Amino acid sequence: MREKHDFPGRQSLTSTYLDFRDWCRQLPKVELHLHLEGAIPIPALWELIQKYGGDSRVPDENALREYFRFRDFPHFLELWIWKNQFLQEYEDFTFFSAGVAESLKAENIQYAEAFFSPGRFKQEGFDTARMLESVRAGLDSVSGVEVALIPDLVRDLGPEYASGVLDEISELRSLGVIGVGLGGSEHTHPPELYTDVYRRARDMGLHATAHAGEAAGAESVWGAINSLEVERIGHGIRAIEDADLMRHLAETGLPIEMCPLSNVATRVVESVAVHPIRKFLDRGLMVTVNSDDPAMFGNSLSQDFMALMTELSFTPAEVRTLILNGIWSSWLDPDQKRALETTFTRSATWLETPVDHR
Ligand SMILES: [Zn+2]
Repeated sequence: MREKHDFPGRQSLTSTYLDFRDWCRQLPKVELHLHLEGAIPIPALWELIQKYGGDSRVPDENALREYFRFRDFPHFLELWIWKNQFLQEYEDFTFFSAGVAESLKAENIQYAEAFFSPGRFKQEGFDTARMLESVRAGLDSVSGVEVALIPDLVRDLGPEYASGVLDEISELRSLGVIGVGLGGSEHTHPPELYTDVYRRARDMGLHATAHAGEAAGAESVWGAINSLEVERIGHGIRAIEDADLMRHLAETGLPIEMCPLSNVATRVVESVAVHPIRKFLDRGLMVTVNSDDPAMFGNSLSQDFMALMTELSFTPAEVRTLILNGIWSSWLDPDQKRALETTFTRSATWLETPVDHR
């Protein structure tokens, strides 16, 4: 840790330099691809499991951490649904959302656009508006971090269902709902099924993103672009399989919400060292870095940046660029983006030169 702070950009002779880990954690950041229910801190989820009588498969908190190791993407989706059974009352949504906001703050994530999936909760009789009000109350109980909401229309439940969720959220802009997302089983529910739903969402003035090119290939990314007319692509990693698509993404500057450690956790890639993120950057794509489901994957946004530095030799300047890409790819107003950029680039940590202390 530094012993003494000088003005930004200048190192005091008496200072010791931040190591990669501390620097990545202390950097101001934004997060554009985060699922609130995948970000419930383990202690908070453990408390909820106990509240509802426990589960013999996870006798303690450590077992719960271990339980979240995934064979593949379908296994991840299976445990996602398992976890949701421990959210049974509206106050649980407030409770876990406050926990998520605290964890964002601990990472110095100052602004996030986060997914929440009304999906199966709605099927169980929860009211979408009350769920989102409860989530908002939890998020707002923590100062210093602003979180906008992107309801996920959950592709597995079909377009008719997605349309119903859209009707409900159209009235909820005051709760910070700014757009729609589409997660779930991409390989069995292609984007084209949701063309009409996304057209309606855009007509309502909502922003649009969709998971594509994660569990399915480049054709899914093309579908999200051509049929859903998204403003960002969630993951997009398999765009690398299609040179024309890579060129198109570079030319249009369509932001990609990349999630490197998530891709390792769900075994979309073997390791960060073989992740194609650098190729995306080298070919001029608008790349952002995000944590996806940090509590379930055991990562954090700063660990994603740290992994890029240690396993793919990203420089501090490249990390700064990725963070600024996040600001400019967000759905904030231009003035808000400029203000956030000014705050970030004037922060003491921003221009420090971290060292590798491993
Ligand atoms: Zn995701």
